Amino acid sequence: MSWSATERFEVRPAPGGLVVVQELLNTSAGGRPRKPDLLDTLDSAQGWLDRVLDEWAAASGRTRERVALIDRDLDELKRLRTRLRQALAARGGNGAADEAEDALLAAEPVTLRMAADSTVTVEPQGDGARRVTSAVLAECLLSQTLGTWQRLKICRHDRCGAAFYDHSRNSSAVWHDARTCGNTVNLRASRERRRAHQESEHPVRP
Ligand SMILES: [Zn+2]
Repeated sequence: MSWSATERFEVRPAPGGLVVVQELLNTSAGGRPRKPDLLDTLDSAQGWLDRVLDEWAAASGRTRERVALIDRDLDELKRLRTRLRQALAARGGNGAADEAEDALLAAEPVTLRMAADSTVTVEPQGDGARRVTSAVLAECLLSQTLGTWQRLKICRHDRCGAAFYDHSRNSSAVWHDARTCGNTVNLRASRERRRAHQESEHPVRP
């Protein structure tokens, strides 16, 4: 499997269809060295979406489909991504969700289908960004019912922002990688504490 946006941050893909949500989140610019925003141009966005839909079809047994994007879809997808990132960051205690943006997550309806073997699938509807929104929100809902939703997180390092799946036993991770992002932030905090301590011992006189 090649989940292109997520692989850029060297994080493991989330389980099941939740990786589709993780993929959208990881199209953002970020990381070190800084990766470009895959939704900045129609070419890169379409290339990314084609790969995601292929992988999604292969992983879930759905029919492979192509969703054609047009220029104005890019802004819609970025709004969806921003709203999702804010919502995930807010529940991790590192940001506030903007209630006013709730309406932006309205999607096209989905169709529920039951196959002869009794398997029920959720099929997104609509075109372009609306169809992608429909697919992403359907996977959010499925993830909630599976109990995996709370484990999808945004790395707390402000210059990283990778969307990662928390595999820790007690679901307590806040960095996508504690050795890199965690260490950098802890080092910065301890330097600031030392500086504040030195200044209080030797105050600068006016
Ligand atoms: Zn990180």
